[in-house]
Amino acid sequence: MHEAKQGNRGLLVFEAAMERHVEHGLTLLSDLRRAADQHEFFLLYQPKLRLSDGHCDAAEVLIRWRHPQRGIVPPDRFIPFAEQTGAIKAITLWVLQHALNQLASWQQLGWQLSLNINVSTRDLGQPDFPALVDNALRRAGVAAASLCLEVTESAIMDDPAQALRCLQALNEMGVRLSIDDFGTGYSSLAYLKKLPVQELKIDRSFVSGLDRDEADVTIVRSTIDLAHHMGLAVVAEGIETEAVSQRLRSFGCDQAQGYLYSRPLPAMEFIAWLKQHRF
Ligand code: C2E
Ligand code: CA
Ligand code: CA
Ligand code: CA
Repeated sequence: MHEAKQGNRGLLVFEAAMERHVEHGLTLLSDLRRAADQHEFFLLYQPKLRLSDGHCDAAEVLIRWRHPQRGIVPPDRFIPFAEQTGAIKAITLWVLQHALNQLASWQQLGWQLSLNINVSTRDLGQPDFPALVDNALRRAGVAAASLCLEVTESAIMDDPAQALRCLQALNEMGVRLSIDDFGTGYSSLAYLKKLPVQELKIDRSFVSGLDRDEADVTIVRSTIDLAHHMGLAVVAEGIETEAVSQRLRSFGCDQAQGYLYSRPLPAMEFIAWLKQHRF
């Protein structure tokens, strides 16, 4: 009897928590739908540098959400939810349009830049995604070669056949492709060989310990060798110290991103950073 009561109370507590969760989910969804219309999203740009000489000609685009009540919401807090509910499609389109317009105006000012944009599993699963990207490029007046799309291993392995079709179409358009968070997923090397990608990004979790962890050193060195044998450029993300940067350079890593060089910056500050950095 006692146990049953406990059980019931447990259930009630659980139901109440579920309701809050669902309500929270629903407001989050309607908030997300409103966000794009009300200009609550904004973009940051993190410099991507050539390790050999520090030259920067690219940046990764990272989204933020300025929520009227919750303040700045980082992408890890709403992108997974947006993927579950399908709201990601509208977000990806918004990011593509805004980032490509920004890129067009920088290029018109004479800045030779390209951008890396993150795409999600859902995006790759959409048969018309390549057409949407093509449309966004045309509308902005940007060449396909100045766009690189970052795709995670898990996004590819979710539906490999569909992902491959999508990546092939993007590749034929001249869009560059990058495998993000490399090493954290379960993609087989045999599969990687088939993907029409040009770049591989080593996940931060392997990069940050490079100055002290021998296992990370082994993983990163062999990843760089593997990528180079497959003709891919290698980018290391999450570089925070000079020691890590130097190790990566000695391993032959091509490009670098991280707080050591710059945090993700608003558009104006990114250009200010470039001016200081280049001259
Ligand atoms: P990601 O693509 O792996 O992006 C790298 C994350 O590491 C970014 O977090 C960046 O701010 C952070 N970071 C860069 N350098 C350092 C460093 O030196 N140290 C540390 N500790 N962190 C560093 P952020 O901006 O919070 O983005 C998190 C994730 O959200 C991204 O991971 C990406 O998966 C997703 N995301 C961000 N923007 C978009 C977007 O526009 N669309 C989609 N679909 N996903 C996005
Ligand atoms: Ca990324
Ligand atoms: Ca990453
Ligand atoms: Ca990540």
